[in-house]
Formats: sequence, structure tokens, C-alpha cells
Amino acid sequence: MSKTAEKFRSISPAEFFYRNKEIAGFSNPARALYQTVRELVENALDATDAHGILPDIQVVIERDPNKPIVYRVSVKDNGIGIPPQYVPDAFGRVLFSSKYVLRQTRGMFGLGAKMVVLYSQITVGEPIEVVTSPINSRRIYAFKLLIDVRENKPIVLYRASWRKESDWHGTYVKVAVEGDWGRSKSKILEYIQRTAIITPYANIYFKDPEGRVRIYRRVTTKIPPPPRETKPHPHGIDLEMLKLMIKSSDASTLQEFLEKEFQGIGKVTAGRFLRSIGLDPSRSLASLTRKDIERLAEALRSYKDFRPPRADHLSPIGSEIIKIGLSAILKPEFVDAVTRKPAVYGGHAFIVEVGIAYGGAIQPSDSPILLRFANKIPLLYDERSDVAWKVVSENIDWGYYGIQFPAPLAVLVHICSTKIPYKGVGKESIADVPVIEQEIENGVRQVARSLKSYLARKKREEEMARRVVTIIKYIPDIARSLSVFTRASEPKIPSEELEARLFEIVKSKVGVAPSIKSPRDVVISVE
Ligand code: ADP
Ligand code: MG
Repeated sequence: MSKTAEKFRSISPAEFFYRNKEIAGFSNPARALYQTVRELVENALDATDAHGILPDIQVVIERDPNKPIVYRVSVKDNGIGIPPQYVPDAFGRVLFSSKYVLRQTRGMFGLGAKMVVLYSQITVGEPIEVVTSPINSRRIYAFKLLIDVRENKPIVLYRASWRKESDWHGTYVKVAVEGDWGRSKSKILEYIQRTAIITPYANIYFKDPEGRVRIYRRVTTKIPPPPRETKPHPHGIDLEMLKLMIKSSDASTLQEFLEKEFQGIGKVTAGRFLRSIGLDPSRSLASLTRKDIERLAEALRSYKDFRPPRADHLSPIGSEIIKIGLSAILKPEFVDAVTRKPAVYGGHAFIVEVGIAYGGAIQPSDSPILLRFANKIPLLYDERSDVAWKVVSENIDWGYYGIQFPAPLAVLVHICSTKIPYKGVGKESIADVPVIEQEIENGVRQVARSLKSYLARKKREEEMARRVVTIIKYIPDIARSLSVFTRASEPKIPSEELEARLFEIVKSKVGVAPSIKSPRDVVISVE
């Protein structure tokens, strides 16, 4: 019997994701085409609205005339651009990002653009093209690159730069991937449409492989305040993170370290906290033993008297913009939205926003159309495993709010946080963290109540209109009878005149729809 020894080796992050591309959403040609569009659009939006720039985004998908399974996807933005020295790593080194800070952005894994390059490289083999001009630069920089999978580093095949003739700044990315437009069309269109709902302050141009152009024009210049960077809250810390923070801090004492590196800890609190766990506030960081650091991490997570996490660094969309977005795209008869107060889970602040749209051009369906968003990203897959689905389809009894399905109802749920509890790196659904579920439920109930009172008001008004109509309908009869009773000594009032007078009285007392100009019109309006 021969026993072979196992061979051990480690692989690079690029190789890991190259082997496991499904977990990042690149599982088949249809899904991969969708994911490619998504990653590039999200980067484009992060480069614009997160910096206060009203986005102009152009997305083009073309089919290769010779190889119908090959698609070229390009996305152009008017964002801040990428400094040329970072372009190769931004697109060619897995886990390289400018978003590894605590700030609310769409990206944050440092993975998206590289997954696109890796997938393109596996399926087609052409290099990715990147053209960029940073916001204050007078030049344009162009690159073509691939990824060295073994080493996790970029291979730059082409590099050029030239003086800028226009005042464009931003980034243009073009990549060839194997895709399946037929099977991803509905998802991609939905993705673009939902992006337009949540960013009504953007111009979005989309040309599909069939040559059809869809343009979502900016309908407001109101833009949410750009997210700011924040420091970690002690309740969200773990041992490894604490070690890293201690290593990179230049604070000279323990007290100064807590005060400087965390949010929610002032000088007084720092002193009181440290003494409560038996650590001297004036100790130097270098003198901490492994045991001290473990104790510190544990206590930071559980100490009750820190200020709660702040949410002023978050960038919710705001109820106004949500209403504008829902109205512009869905064209409903009723719309409302609410931005909830900040709440906290596991040391991370988050804000839930809920919008509701009813009637108008919305098609009736058997359950509410759920529009899910996290940090302004539309989430389309894995709907049934998302906490928002649970709330909308299980927790809420819509009958109580006057809705009987099928009904033309859409519910928008947006969660923003520096840490979204996604269920996977494909960023498609959100885990059911109890406080998040509660916040969503409260938000949905709030807008559902507002819909309920709208529907009740509408019903009352309709009833009233019906009653008025019934009265008016009989005016000609009444006028005729009255005309018979006029005294013989007085000139007879013609029934037409009586009719008109009675109609005036009803009109002034209860109000009549402007389309009804005389009692004779009523016959037409009563069905
Ligand atoms: P992530 O978005 O999670 O940071 P990506 O791999 O998608 O990771 O992108 C890596 C980095 O490349 C980003 O952090 C950003 O700095 C830069 N980048 C990518 N696309 C753009 C763009 N369109 N405009 C500006 N910067 C970009
Ligand atoms: Mg990204």
C-alpha cells in the first residue's frame, strides 16, 4: 500500500476568488453579466454622489458580432477619477481599495472591479481598459491590464497619457465578458430602473445589446449629503481589530488611545472605564500584555456607559428624494416615505428608510412589490432570504391597512450603515438581525398607516361624490314638480330655471366635480 504525502501550499487572494467566483456572484454567464454591470455602476456612483457630484453615468453593453456569447460592457462616469499610480492595483490586485475606512459606500470589500477582471480573463482573455482623469488633473490616463492570479498583482499591458482638451473628469472602464443577455435582460433592466429610483439626482444612460437606449433623466438636483468617515465604536470592536489599532496608534497613554481612536469615548469616560477594569489610564501602549489586551477588548464591547454610536456619518437618501424617485419611475397615485431615527446593532449605527407607492401605473400583484436597497445598492437576488421580505410578507397584515391583494402596491426598504450584515460577498440579501427587523417593521407600519388614511379619505370622498350625484340626478324631476306648484298669481318659473337654481345650491353647499356642468351631465358620470 502506498501512501502519498499531501502537498501543502497557500494561494493568493486572486487565486482564491478565481477558484470561487460563485461566491462573488459570477456563477454563470447570465448572472456574471448582471454582476459586471453592477460592480462597475456601483463604482461609478461611489465616485460621484459620495463626493457631492451629481452623477452622469453611461452604461453600454454590446454583443460581439463574431462571438455572440461575448459582451463588451463599458461604464463611464463623471466622478473624482483615479490617481494614475493607483489604477493598476485598483483593478489588478484583489483586496485593494480606497474604501477600507469606516464610511458608508456601496463598495467596501475591495473585490468588485477585480472580480470583473478575473471573470473576463477566464472567459474571454482580453485585458480590461481603464481611462481616467482625476478631478484636478489636466491629463487623461489610459491603461490596459490583466491580473497575475498566482501573485495577486496587476500585469499592465498598455499605459498612455495625454493632455486634456475638455473639462471631463471621471473614469471609463471597458471589459469583455462571457454573458447571456437573453437570460439576464430582465434583471439588468430592473437593476438599472431601481438604481434610477434610489438616485433620482442622476442621469443614467443605458444602451443594451439590442441597440435599445433607455434614459433616466435627473428629476432633482437634491443630493444626499456625502457620507463622512468615522471612527469605530467600542461595542463593535474585536480582539484582532484592537491589536491592529494599538499597533498603528501613536497615542502615548492608554487613556489617550481610547480618546483618539474611538468614537463615543471622551477623556472622563476613558479614565473611568479604564479604572473600572483595573487598568491605569497613564500606562503606555507598549507596556500592555496579551492578557491586558484581551481584557480590554472584552470590556470595550460590554461596557454600558459609552455614548451610543453616532450616525451623523451615515448618508440616508431622505424621504423627499425617495418620494421623488418613486413618483418619477413608478408613477403611482399615492406615495410616502420615512427616514427612521438612527439605531444600533453590534456597535454599528444604521438607518432604515421605507417608502410606499400605491396605484397609478403600478400593476396589481399578489404580494407587495418589494424594492430592497442597502447603501443605495438595489438588491435583486435571494429576495426570500432577506429580512425585509420577512417583514413585508410575514410580519405585516396588509388587510389591517386596507389592502386586499391583488393590489398595486410597492414597498421600498433602504438600509444604510458602515457595516451592512449581508449574507454573502455577492451582496444580495441582508441577514435577519432582530433590531434591523424591528426598525424595518416600524418603518413599514408608519408608511402603511399613511397609505391607510389616504385610502380611507379617498373612500369617503368617493362616497360623498356618489351621494351628491344621486341628489343631482333627481333635480330635473324635482324642478318639474316644483314648477307645477308655482302660484297662479305669479309668473310660472320654467323647470329649466328651477333646475339650474337647485343645481347652484347643491354645488355651493357640498361641492361638485368640475366635470359636472349641469344635472344632465350626471347621467353620464353615474355608471
Ligand atoms: P471597492 O469598490 O469595494 O473598493 P473595487 O475593486 O470595486 O472595490 O474598486 C477598487 C477601487 O478602485 C475603489 O476603492 C476605488 O478607489 C477605485 N475605483 C474603481 N472604479 C472607480 C471609478 N469608476 N471611479 C473612481 N474610482 C474607482
Ligand atoms: Mg466596487
